[in-house]
Formats: sequence, structure tokens, C-alpha cells
Amino acid sequence: MRLKTKLLHRVNTTTTILTDHFGRIHSYLRISITESCNFRCSYCMPTNDYHCLPSAQQMGVDEIESIAKAFVGMGVSKIRLTGGEPLVRRDFADILRRLSALGVEISITTNGFLVDKFLPLFREVGLRSLNLSLDSLDKARFDRITGRNAFDRVWGNALKLLDAGIRVKMNTVALHDTVMDELPRFLDLTKGLPLHVRFIEFMPFAGNGWEHHKVITAAQMLAMVQERYDIVKLKDEPHATAKKYKIVGHEGTFAFITTMSEHFCGSCNRLRVTADGKIKNCLFGKDEFDLLGALRGGEDLAQVIHQAVKAKHPVMGGQFAGGYTQRQAESIENRSMVKIGG
Ligand code: SAM
Ligand code: SF4
Repeated sequence: MRLKTKLLHRVNTTTTILTDHFGRIHSYLRISITESCNFRCSYCMPTNDYHCLPSAQQMGVDEIESIAKAFVGMGVSKIRLTGGEPLVRRDFADILRRLSALGVEISITTNGFLVDKFLPLFREVGLRSLNLSLDSLDKARFDRITGRNAFDRVWGNALKLLDAGIRVKMNTVALHDTVMDELPRFLDLTKGLPLHVRFIEFMPFAGNGWEHHKVITAAQMLAMVQERYDIVKLKDEPHATAKKYKIVGHEGTFAFITTMSEHFCGSCNRLRVTADGKIKNCLFGKDEFDLLGALRGGEDLAQVIHQAVKAKHPVMGGQFAGGYTQRQAESIENRSMVKIGG
């Protein structure tokens, strides 16, 4: 009987606590640990007026740990570290070690530049999967997009991760020239490598030059793929943002993240905390909830977290009524992506 009560309690804490008004259960937290970045990707960094967060306003290691623990206690079972570029933070190793001790699935989204430095740490904490962003296989184009001459290093690090047995999901923002020139090159990577290439539809954020006609949709890309290859649709995981496919006979997979053309808000299980400790309940929402302020003021974190979950809009942060083709980037109230954390 005691065991039954214990099990029921576990079910309650893991499945029902972070439920919003639309019945969505939140079990996945993305924590941005820095707004700084060693790259300058054109689609992510604002073109002007970019100032880094003063360190006093950034969450410290103990604060990140306390906040992560609060979410885990409320049913979060997966945490992704992101940024900015998470690996540039000086105390990154400490943060990863502490969060890895919480007993939940941990992953990272990185631009890959510093991955070789942290491979021993990844092995030590048992990191199983990582998202590595790489937007072009053409060195000159890579330099233009990221503002850094770093293609060889990033690509080399992707191979090192695969050698280490870490699952690599490769994020590629679907920019017009890249898709038109390089889609087959990206797909051919999946032939002999267990890589999972994911094309992300270009999304609008403050200052990133988004216009709706610049979005190359998953349907357009899929049509291009089908002209050349025999493909099979794979089963998507629950809450997945990616629609997965495989080319017949290839080792790896490819996928489309259809945020713009076909949102996946109905099954959203994600919450975000920014590097300055604000909860964002949606990537596209303007609402923010000051968790770090509550922690520093000795207030109840659970109350702020509940408030954020209950305030979640049904679709796209309430800012895309009428679909993305009706939107002007300037009318969307939000931070830049580098200050949210993808
Ligand atoms: N610095 C890390 C990186 O680049 O992977 C983590 C942070 S970055 C903001 C997280 C992800 O967001 C990256 O895969 C990046 O390509 C993606 N991203 C940034 N801006 C985007 C945009 N406007 N549209 C689509 N994806 C975007
Ligand atoms: Fe930096 Fe990642 Fe943004 Fe590129 S996408 S500027 S690497 S945070």
C-alpha cells in the first residue's frame, strides 16, 4: 500500500504539475547560460545595438543549479543548455557537472567551435546527444553567415563527437542560397555518417532581417529532396519539433523543423529560462517572468513557475494570428534569438 501511494505521488509530480490551460504538460526546460557568443550569425544576432549582459544580471552557477532543481522537482525530465554560445562561459564545466548530477536527461546546443576542448568532460558526465549548428558546407559561405573563419574546426569537431559515440543532431537554418546550392550535399552527409541533419525554417526575431518571403518551407525542401532521392518517413517522437525522414540505404537521417509553415504548439512541452533568469513560456512570446529576481529575493520559485505556465498562449506566443505570411518582423515584440536561447 505504501509503495502504491509512493508510485501515485511520483506519477503526480512527473505528469501533472506543469500543466497549462490547454492541457499541455511541460517536462523540457531550455536554460540559456550566456548571451555571449564567439560567432555572429546573421539570422540570430541583431544587426545593431547589441550589448552583452552585465555579469551581475546573469545567473550564477549556484543560481542555475537552484533553478534547475526547482523545475526538476516540478516534473522536468530533460534540460538543454543553450545561449548565446554555452561553451564560452568560463564556468561551463561546473554548470554541466552540477546539472548532470540531477538525474535528468541533459543536452546542449552549440555552434561546435569549442567542442574539442570539452570532449573529456562530455565523456565524464555521460553526455549522449548534442545539437551542433552548421549552416553551410561551403567555407566562404560559412564565414559570411557566422562572421568567423571556422568551418574546418566546427566540421572536425562534429566528426570527433561521432567518433566519441555522441549522437549529433546538426541544425541548419534554411537560408535561401544554402538550400538552393547545398541541400544535396547536406543529405549526402547522411549516407556514410550517423548524422541527423535538421533544416530549420528561418524564424523572425528582433533585428534579424526576417521577411516572410525569405522563409523556405519544409514543403519546398521536401519537393526538392523527392526529385533526387527515395525517402521514407520516420516516426516522430512525442513532442518532437522535427519531422524526420531517411534516404533509403543511408545511415543518418534528415528532418525539417516547420516552425513557420506548420507550428507544433499543440504538443509543446517546452519552457525556457534566459541567461538573466527570466522564464519565457514560448519562444515567440513577449511575456517574461522574473525567476532570478524571485530567487534573489527569497521568494517561492514554484509560484513564479506556475504563473508562467498558466499564462502560456495556445499558439506562437499569441503573436502570429493569421499565419506567418501576415507578419512584419518589426511588429513582433520579442528579444533577439541570441538573448533568448534556441
Ligand atoms: N550558439 C548555439 C548554436 O548556435 O547552436 C546555441 C544558441 S542558437 C540561438 C540555437 C539555435 O537557434 C541554433 O541552431 C541556431 O541555428 C538557431 N537559430 C538562431 N536564430 C534562428 C532563426 N532566426 N531562425 C531559425 N533558427 C535560428
Ligand atoms: Fe551565436 Fe548560435 Fe546565435 Fe550563431 S546561432 S550567433 S553561434 S548564438
